[in-house]
Amino acid sequence: MSKKKIMKSAFGRPVGNDQNSLTAGERGPVLMQDVHLLEKLSHFDRERIPERVVHAKGAGAYGYFEVTADVTKYTKAAFLSAVGKKTDVFVRFSTVGGEKGSADAERDPRGFAIKFYTEEGNYDMTGNNTPVFFIRDPLKFPDFIHTQKREPATNLKSATMAWDFWSLTPESIHQVTILFSDRGTPATYRHMNGYSSHTYKWYTDTGEYFWVQYHFKTDQGIKNFTGTEAKEMCGKDPDHATRDLYDSIEKGDYPSWTLEMQILTPEQAEEFEWDILDITKVWPHSQVPPLTVGKLVLNKNPENYFAEVEQAAFSPSNLVPGIGVSPDKMLQARLFSYHDTHIHRLGPNYNLIPVNQPKNSMPLNHQRDGLMRVDDNGGGRPNYWPNSFSEIQPEGKNEEPDIPLSGAGSRYEFAHRNDDFVQAGNLYRHVMTEADRDSLITNIVGHMKEVPLRIQLRQCAIFYLADAEYGERVSQGLGLDINLVQRLAGMSQEQRVSETADM
Ligand code: NDP
Repeated sequence: MSKKKIMKSAFGRPVGNDQNSLTAGERGPVLMQDVHLLEKLSHFDRERIPERVVHAKGAGAYGYFEVTADVTKYTKAAFLSAVGKKTDVFVRFSTVGGEKGSADAERDPRGFAIKFYTEEGNYDMTGNNTPVFFIRDPLKFPDFIHTQKREPATNLKSATMAWDFWSLTPESIHQVTILFSDRGTPATYRHMNGYSSHTYKWYTDTGEYFWVQYHFKTDQGIKNFTGTEAKEMCGKDPDHATRDLYDSIEKGDYPSWTLEMQILTPEQAEEFEWDILDITKVWPHSQVPPLTVGKLVLNKNPENYFAEVEQAAFSPSNLVPGIGVSPDKMLQARLFSYHDTHIHRLGPNYNLIPVNQPKNSMPLNHQRDGLMRVDDNGGGRPNYWPNSFSEIQPEGKNEEPDIPLSGAGSRYEFAHRNDDFVQAGNLYRHVMTEADRDSLITNIVGHMKEVPLRIQLRQCAIFYLADAEYGERVSQGLGLDINLVQRLAGMSQEQRVSETADM
């Protein structure tokens, strides 16, 4: 039996009794001077912090990333500088739309966020288990997420909201097709891939740069639930993926992923069939073969969920020299929004929370003070720059090379090079098996059956534009007139919306 330790209050006072409140007489009211009770209750009253507005439910683990191929001709990032080099990581997986207590098996994309604790500061790769996204302009993001959350009047989830938005946003068809395939219900967090989805920039010392996309391919193999299995799991064990990750690491069965990169020179990107800034599109492997460059292994569970997982804060703005962003509008907005959310959730000094600290390159700057500044706050060092008293100074070689820009500031419609239906159609026709297609149709029909007719019709026209059979099968499942769907598919989106307005 370990040596007894005296219980103490938050301020170190030894506690004499933690079971009986201080009362006036045996059956009298509680005394205001029971400061032990007051402290305990007021801390309890403040236990919850705001949950993330997206990716609220998650699970995380520590591990390492190991470089397995020489990529120094593409990037000067120190953590990628030598084959065999290992960097500590913390990874958080999550669902997107559900609240903190929602079920892990819900149909939803999955977040796949990696924090690399590099010697040049933290580098965060905030990806998803899908290589594309529903929209490609951040002005649409809050609206889109509202459709995945709860209806204002009823506080219920609403298939109508979701399909209304998607049917009015045809660029969503590629991601909708992945979401309603069985990849929308991964069996565990270990059995799914992680993609950067966005295009990022890698650059070298000489100023040469490349456009890149990250693909973390699961070494456990892809494993998904069918729609029915997922629904059953939501009831049986709402935390099944959290449990699976924890248990497998606890028993030494460490999950791993192989990092493959797709890399394009700026010249190749100019000529490329697809717009590399359009997050609703992939770079087909036949056109940009992936290069295997590393391995990600998770081998240590957190010791305290709140401290290490709930308070973990990832942001695509956490970059290191050698890695930059692309002008993908969605990515540009995330550079603001993630950091902004964490300040709201955790306060302006959230970088001091141990899981978020850049532990292999300590902060050294002139930022001071703020709520919960709990380190030495820079001690007695100057808090301004330039100054004549300290050795801390910027070093130009850490700046990203010049970024060529041109054009007038305006609200441009996305100038995509190809229509929004080809890649979704290719996925349906060429990548999915017959069983995948059957699941896709069953999942969509099940979800859409209560949705108003005009929304069903508009959406089926979009399925039809991706692939005629795809559109026909969903229409048939919903009992729609296929001739009408075909006619709607032949119209512009504006005409379709106006034609179906009164249906
Ligand atoms: P490829 O045949 O070279 O690659 C197909 C990719 O699709 C593989 O990465 C595979 O991932 C993934 N995949 C397999 N089954 C499914 C499914 N049911 N749902 C979603 N993805 C699946 O083809 P292309 O590169 O030419 O791409 C064709 C289509 O494949 C794309 O339009 C896109 O929808 C999808 N895709 C493409 C990716 C890319 O980066 N090029 C990445 C993921 C999907 P895995 O190896 O893990 O089985």
